[in-house]
Amino acid sequence: MKMKLKRFASIPVLSVVILVGFVHYVTVFVFIEDWFGLRSSAGLLNSLIFTFWGFLCVFSLLVCVLRDPGRVPSRYVPDVEDNQTQNGANQRNCDKCSAHKPPRAHHCRVCRRCVLRMDHHCSWINNCVGHRNYKSYLLLIFYAFIASTYSAIIIIGSALNKDWESTINRNLKAFHIGCGVLSVSLSAMLGTLLAWHVYLTSHNMTTIEHHEVKRAAWLARKSGLVYHHPYDVGFYKNISLVLGPDMLKWLWPTSVSHIKDGLSFPTIRDSS
Ligand SMILES: [Zn+2]
Ligand SMILES: [Zn+2]
Repeated sequence: MKMKLKRFASIPVLSVVILVGFVHYVTVFVFIEDWFGLRSSAGLLNSLIFTFWGFLCVFSLLVCVLRDPGRVPSRYVPDVEDNQTQNGANQRNCDKCSAHKPPRAHHCRVCRRCVLRMDHHCSWINNCVGHRNYKSYLLLIFYAFIASTYSAIIIIGSALNKDWESTINRNLKAFHIGCGVLSVSLSAMLGTLLAWHVYLTSHNMTTIEHHEVKRAAWLARKSGLVYHHPYDVGFYKNISLVLGPDMLKWLWPTSVSHIKDGLSFPTIRDSS
């Protein structure tokens, strides 16, 4: 646990924590207070709803940072048949770990080990995004997108509602504009990232695999064939493989009992 807590001692992770704290503070104590007043029921309701999204965002962040993305067990020996059907190729080995590499696992240079169903290494969480923490990563982007959009609406709404004619304080105007630009940019960036990961999840692809698939599809096209990503087992199944079979638990970062060992994955050949 102590080792895991150490992951917070990194400038990018601390910057994210400070940013979340700053956005929460100004949204509630400056802009909601300015627009509705925190003692009014509208002010209180908005602060509670915004804090709720903020809490889910922080909780998902904690899970992303603290949960191991998935380690290859030392006893792992590839199933030859499985390996051939899943990759149509040779056994995969990692030169750096001098060990077998399960399908979809990749070596991370930062973590200095192989990570199961590796998506990418993310400096903002000082951890790899892989098999066991991908759900919390997806939810982190989702909640952060909702919270930043909520904050942007509050900031813009409070600016439109303000009587700027009688405001002589220029710094206040600059602060208002600065916070508005920050929350709108955050919302746009997170929205784009969320759309990208929803696309990947619905096709059961990792960021690394997306590059491989693009190349395989190009090669197949050249020979007049159509390439199909082997792990793409259909829209709903792809999504439930990440979020879980029970829709009621889709939005909770720690409900991951459906996550298997990450050493083999269902493919289209299994379903056909
Ligand atoms: Zn490795
Ligand atoms: Zn890594």
